[in-house]
Amino acid sequence: MNRKIGAHVSAAGGIDKAIERVAEIGGNCLQLFSGSPRVWAKMPLEKQPVAAFDSNREKYNVTPVFTHALYLVNLASDKEENIRKSFASLKYELEFDSLVKGSGIIVHLGSHQGRGWEASCAQIADHIDQLLSETPDNSTFLIENSAGQNGKIASDLEEIRWLFDELEKRNKLVSTGRLAWCFDTCHGFAAGYRLGDHTKIAKDEKSAIQAISDLNLWETLKVVHVNDSKDPFGSGRDRHDNIGDGTIPAEELKFFLNYEKLLDIPLILEVPGIDKEGPDAENIERLRKIATE
Ligand SMILES: [Zn+2]
Ligand SMILES: [Zn+2]
Repeated sequence: MNRKIGAHVSAAGGIDKAIERVAEIGGNCLQLFSGSPRVWAKMPLEKQPVAAFDSNREKYNVTPVFTHALYLVNLASDKEENIRKSFASLKYELEFDSLVKGSGIIVHLGSHQGRGWEASCAQIADHIDQLLSETPDNSTFLIENSAGQNGKIASDLEEIRWLFDELEKRNKLVSTGRLAWCFDTCHGFAAGYRLGDHTKIAKDEKSAIQAISDLNLWETLKVVHVNDSKDPFGSGRDRHDNIGDGTIPAEELKFFLNYEKLLDIPLILEVPGIDKEGPDAENIERLRKIATE
């Protein structure tokens, strides 16, 4: 029973505090923001309390650590200013990831805003390519699958496969470990992927496990966001619920999390919390009961 189970918690008061917060609710791995999630502005990297962070990490034995990029980021935007801000902010996150010896930054690629995947895929690849050429070799860019609403990129796992193939071809960014991905259970379910036993999926439905296998995406899967969904299967909507309180059937989530390929993958909660203050001890407890292996 030494699965990696943790949560996204606040880093208010300093990133070292996030370690204390996740340990307090019973987590042994972490996701955090490198600064305020609502603004583009960042604290200079040299002002981040990295020594306190490192010593807390050792004290509480919290690893791995993931950084979540800003939700404002949109690499598929057709607005020059938004791209410029997105690029600068992701560059900071990658440098931060290297500085805190993190295991990657988790990125929502953004929305093509109706222009379509075909019209935006090359642009997204260009930006990721350039970002990774300007940032430390030990920093990692993790693409998160989306629920798909409003033209959000990567609700279809084939889009992640395409980006991997394109960027491997250009600069070997996948085989060198710079580029990988994160699967979010709420987003996958909302995007029409069933999470249960892939051998028993209805013919007209997609299976997450089968799709990941068919697209050869297990090796590059570095983390799973475990969230229940407030909306029905295939809704395309991205509203997380507490574990067991949403629309994902309990047996589906259990099957998925105990699938052999997932046993060594860190599980991170991004749930609203019982008191609506974010991931809490109760949700960690519920997840520990499900992820039993
Ligand atoms: Zn997520
Ligand atoms: Zn979400």
